[in-house]
Amino acid sequence: MQAMRQGSCVRVPGRHRDTAHRGRPSAWVSAAVVVVLTVTVALWLWQARPFDARRMLGVDAPPAGIGAAQAPLGAPPTLPGGHGGYTFMAMQGSGTDPVAYDPCRPIHYTTSAVGLPVGGDALVREAVATMSEASGLRFVDDGLTDEAPDPDRDPYQPDRYGDRWAPLYIAFATPDQIPRLSGSTVGLGGSTPRAAGDGVLVYVTGSVWLDAQAMTDLFAAGRRDSARAVVEHEIGHVLGLGHVSDGTQLMSQTGGAGAGPADGDRRGLAVLGRGVCRPDL
Ligand SMILES: [Zn+2]
Repeated sequence: MQAMRQGSCVRVPGRHRDTAHRGRPSAWVSAAVVVVLTVTVALWLWQARPFDARRMLGVDAPPAGIGAAQAPLGAPPTLPGGHGGYTFMAMQGSGTDPVAYDPCRPIHYTTSAVGLPVGGDALVREAVATMSEASGLRFVDDGLTDEAPDPDRDPYQPDRYGDRWAPLYIAFATPDQIPRLSGSTVGLGGSTPRAAGDGVLVYVTGSVWLDAQAMTDLFAAGRRDSARAVVEHEIGHVLGLGHVSDGTQLMSQTGGAGAGPADGDRRGLAVLGRGVCRPDL
């Protein structure tokens, strides 16, 4: 874009037909060239400066409020009764409310095409649908991405995803790519919080890393419910749920019984769906 602008401003004074002019054509032409060049360069600098300044200063956030609606997009379910508790990954400074996503904007998610097993994207969509329903938070499928798994993923990648927070990233990865997947760990999930001006923390994006070999083994053994439970459990972490010791809950360290979120999980998810709308982030 910059080359095109520079090219056009060079072309303006380059070829002029001044045969109709009489008197002092070269002086008038020179003056006109100076005026055109001055205006063109000034306009170009004025247009280019905000863009270049942001890049050069390393601002690592999109403009505030991208994709934010005036009100929550979905309605979190009423807190179910039944058995089981929940914990949160992180609390606000007040200690009373959990860190959560902004319910006024959708959680965009993208699935890595690299290492994706057959049926893996369908499994992800099913798990997302379950956790969306349980939390009332709206998800949007951005499709597949060629972004490689990276433990230090940048939450803002404008060159790849445009001027917005990078979408939640879900990948079937290897321990070579994500060292924390080594050993018996089948999946990892979590989100990145950002602080608003008043200190309130809001999740802006996250990652789910699934051990590709372990997931493929579950598929091969006909344990698709268990594979889906792994994805649901990691999305539970992404939304803000921590572990519980009760083995009947999805958020137990072993991933529950493969039947989706249990009552304790659902209570926690319903609380997380009641986060605050923060268009200032
Ligand atoms: Zn876990």
